[in-house]
Amino acid sequence: MEKTRCLIIGSGPAGYTAGIYTGRADLKPILYEGEQPGGQLTITTEIENFPGYPEGVAGTAMMDDLRRQAQRFGCDVRTGYIVEARLDSRPFHLKDDHGVEIEADTVVIATGASAKWIGIDSEREFYGSGVSACATCDGPFYKNQVVAVVGGGDTACEEANYLSTLCSKVYLVHRRDELRASKAMQHRVLNNPKIEMLWNSRISRILGTTLDGVTGIELEDTKTGAHSEREVTGVFVAIGHKPNTDFLAGQVELDEQGYIKIHHPSTATNIPGVFAAGDVCDPNYRQAIVAAGRGCIAAMDVERFLQEN
Ligand code: NAP
Repeated sequence: MEKTRCLIIGSGPAGYTAGIYTGRADLKPILYEGEQPGGQLTITTEIENFPGYPEGVAGTAMMDDLRRQAQRFGCDVRTGYIVEARLDSRPFHLKDDHGVEIEADTVVIATGASAKWIGIDSEREFYGSGVSACATCDGPFYKNQVVAVVGGGDTACEEANYLSTLCSKVYLVHRRDELRASKAMQHRVLNNPKIEMLWNSRISRILGTTLDGVTGIELEDTKTGAHSEREVTGVFVAIGHKPNTDFLAGQVELDEQGYIKIHHPSTATNIPGVFAAGDVCDPNYRQAIVAAGRGCIAAMDVERFLQEN
């Protein structure tokens, strides 16, 4: 059984920042990268709004830098993820996907959030072969083709704009007649000649065969119920995210949307010694800079907790 003073779960800006701070505090933290090392920023395009990068920075480059910075201060960054957590008594007992068991005095949960899906059968059928939740990852497969993006928030608009640089045409399918995205993002989408808005529309079926892949989408007008079709070879779903808390098996208190409840302004959860930071407990701001700041607070909360206990 391994022992650590601080186990960090997750490798987005929150997890790595907690790793940097607890590392510098000489706590020799162990950090599990999780199923998507580097988190959501590794599947985004350029990050233009993180302070300190006047020319912008690629998400993967920023996450590489954060990982190396955490390692420089002694954070033990591990590939893999936590499959089991027993948080009912201290020290906490956790097990990783290789069966390694760890006893931890404190835990920082920074597991972020995952993409949501529309929930139709054909979406599952074509996942990975015509249906994607990541334009940056899969967009290059659709060069000079016609694709559809689903959603009306910043993510959908960002993905539609990015895909318009590669594809011949992008349909943006939104269930209402007004975008939820920020005004700046709306402006870019609505003035992009390669993007066509399909208002008041939902995808009722993704058309195609296993052999040919996706060939089109069947749309339903959300006001009239009328059906229509469009020819596309790719569908990008961008309708929001779900916090990654399943592995906690109900031990940490969550809100009605499944986000971890914390005692603001600290990062303390309902379990003394267990802290949470980043998108896993933030349904509102969900920005890299906010997650990094919360990771710093989590590390300071850990230090204080260890001093007091
Ligand atoms: P979001 O803001 O929650 O938007 C989700 C969109 O998907 C909404 O337009 C919603 O429609 C639609 N939707 C939800 N469920 C659906 C379903 N089952 N079928 C069809 N459409 C559905 O999520 P997001 O765009 O991922 O953004 C999340 C947060 O990250 C936001 O705070 C956003 O500002 C931020 N963000 C910022 C940037 C940036 O600053 N560069 C980039 C990306 C994201 P309704 O509008 O009808 O509800």
